[in-house]
Amino acid sequence: MARSHNLGYPRIGKRRELKRATEGYWSGKISTEDLLGQVATIRETNWKTQRDAGIDLIPCNDFSLYDQVLDTVALAGAVPDRYHWSEDAVDLDTYFAMARGAQREGLDVTALEMTKWFDTNYHYLVPELVPGQTFRLASTKPFDELDHASSLGIHAKPVLIGPVSFLLLSKSRDERFDPLSLLDALVPVYREVVSRLAEMGAEWIQLDEPCFVQDRSGDERAALTRAYGDLAAHRGAAKLLVQTYFDSVGDSYRTLAALPVQGVGLDFVRGPRNLDLLNSFGFPSDKVLAAGIVDGRNVWLNDMERSLGLSEQIGKHVSSDRLFLNPSCSLLHVPYDVHLEQDLDPRLVEWLAFAEQKLAEVVTLAQAATDRESVSGVLQANAEAVQRRRQSERVHRSEVKDRVAAAGEQEANRGIEYVERREAQHHALELPLFPTTTIGSFPQTPEVRRNRNRLQKGEITQGEHDRFISEEIQKLVALQEEMGIDVLVHGEFERSDMVEYFGERMDGFAFTRHGWVQSYGTRYIRPPIIFGDVARPQAMTVRWSTYAQSLTDKPVKGMLTGPVTILNWSFVRDDQTRAVTCKQIALAIRDEVRDLENAGIRIIQVDEPALREGLPLHHGDRQEYLNWAVMCFRLATAVASPATQVHTHMCYSEFDDIIEAIAALDADVISIENSRSNLELLDTFRRFDYKQEIGPGVYDIHSPRVPTSDEMRGNLSAASDVLDRGQLWMNPDCGLKTRRWEEVLPALRNMVAAARELRETEVALSR
Ligand code: GLN
Ligand code: ZN
Repeated sequence: MARSHNLGYPRIGKRRELKRATEGYWSGKISTEDLLGQVATIRETNWKTQRDAGIDLIPCNDFSLYDQVLDTVALAGAVPDRYHWSEDAVDLDTYFAMARGAQREGLDVTALEMTKWFDTNYHYLVPELVPGQTFRLASTKPFDELDHASSLGIHAKPVLIGPVSFLLLSKSRDERFDPLSLLDALVPVYREVVSRLAEMGAEWIQLDEPCFVQDRSGDERAALTRAYGDLAAHRGAAKLLVQTYFDSVGDSYRTLAALPVQGVGLDFVRGPRNLDLLNSFGFPSDKVLAAGIVDGRNVWLNDMERSLGLSEQIGKHVSSDRLFLNPSCSLLHVPYDVHLEQDLDPRLVEWLAFAEQKLAEVVTLAQAATDRESVSGVLQANAEAVQRRRQSERVHRSEVKDRVAAAGEQEANRGIEYVERREAQHHALELPLFPTTTIGSFPQTPEVRRNRNRLQKGEITQGEHDRFISEEIQKLVALQEEMGIDVLVHGEFERSDMVEYFGERMDGFAFTRHGWVQSYGTRYIRPPIIFGDVARPQAMTVRWSTYAQSLTDKPVKGMLTGPVTILNWSFVRDDQTRAVTCKQIALAIRDEVRDLENAGIRIIQVDEPALREGLPLHHGDRQEYLNWAVMCFRLATAVASPATQVHTHMCYSEFDDIIEAIAALDADVISIENSRSNLELLDTFRRFDYKQEIGPGVYDIHSPRVPTSDEMRGNLSAASDVLDRGQLWMNPDCGLKTRRWEEVLPALRNMVAAARELRETEVALSR
């Protein structure tokens, strides 16, 4: 019969115990021993929860003190030289130095780079490898965790990042060096790990190779074959499961199916095309298929009828004794337990499933695959809940659906060419050359946060809080005028988070109290849940924007978060396409744009920092995403009249592959992150004739450093080599909310000085 199986469990602790323990350790409040003791409890609780839920095959080594890729760096002893590590094993201080950088006696090192884990909102630390890199086993973590589980009577399955994905996720400072060329040096470490786990009695060992859901070359596939050919010879009595997730494996299917391993894992939720692959090529009869059929990336109650249909389809190719049923990926990406949410509407709670609920779903499916009758009550209750969700008036609103259906190309079009709009805007705004502005937020000081907390706790009234915000805005407007900034902002003091603020003001969104998900290390987020048709009952930002505008003659930008970013940073309903949900949000934002304009706001910025990260993993799927994402942005903004200047902002500068889509947004001005990769950006604009205006961030707000005006002038001059002077704006590369006033004030003064100097040079040249 089919076995219930899990790929990984959340590790932050149900009450965020991991955060408290690690931060306590960092600040010296708790000892190493206490840290290790507290995290051992998290692991034990996780294992017991899974065992009690009835999961047959429970993962271990899915726990991490910081990040699973960093654990693999430690495992393989791939510590970069700058950490001066020479011990036998990677110690905690070295481990955390790689995670966060370190400044202590005699040591001042930066952290490893951090980047997004595929298309999730989890971030991993990027291994840094060098030509001639050597590897050696330098951590006992997988053995310790297996031991620990065994001591509790749990025959756990160690989880490792596979060697090929580890190298594909790595990078080298030397761009010409391909980390995959280190495979033969790395595999011996894995050999040692696998054979030792086998000796310890592991029945299964899971090796994650998620990189094979991306488009891969023949060489990369050959590397997979080589690596597992080698490991297969050292597995003893243990069985190897090569696990993929987040999409279908596409052209790598036949390579995976032919590996000399005992199991292959495929995601049938995010990668429905995996079923087509089974139908076309069959599944090898000597292997186990670990089938991901419960969504591990989202929070919705599983539709059991649908999953049973799917597992029946899969069952045509795999006999039930060779079938594992599991969530589609590690449950790291969802919160622990929906039953902690006492404040959520119980009708909504019924439609949700967090990690703990997903375990039960997997167990039910495994039982149903063998003996449907035995779980008929559960299936019946599930069918009824699914039905209630399908028909709920809280979810479905005909006026929203009608409006989405009616909105088309025409609504998404400004109606007049950019060049003509530019004319109208320049006339209306009368801005100088190289206009200066900021991205929106200003320092969220302890005082700002304290006031927000007190409002939430009911310690101050809304009126008192509003008074505080208006004073902050007054001060900021006066300050920007005094500094000589050309386009002002109100500072976003009333917002805690750029998505939450809007979600809380729209219908169709719900917020959890305990729904934390790890973003990286000890940073956890609580994404909003979009459960129903989205509508905006009333204006969301007009009050503070118009208040700020009333204090000055200079233009104040209205600040909105774009539909694609709101979508990508939320848990999105799964009963309609993401494109449709995005379009609903776009129409709500569109109403806000119109209201801001009617209230006299002449510049409106719609931030889309998360547009790029929504790109599908397979290149072949990207255009379709970009088409609807761009359409939604335009739907949100095209209501603006020609003289209203539409800005957008993005927190990255890798534009090269999506520059056409960026241009198609048809924003009048775009500000982007740039300070770290000027060169790449210049290349893009050398190749692509970009017409609209652009503010390539002239300074890096992620660092406390105050750049000089010379530096910033230099940055903008470099951009003027490939872009027309009249196109350029002068701004920092992102919002200033995480910075302190002591850093922001001198930096912005230098920035304004740099713009003035550039203007003077222009005047001198034109004489
Ligand atoms: N307007 C937002 C801010 O300044 C933009 C933040 C972002 O790009 N992530 O904070
Ligand atoms: Zn940004």
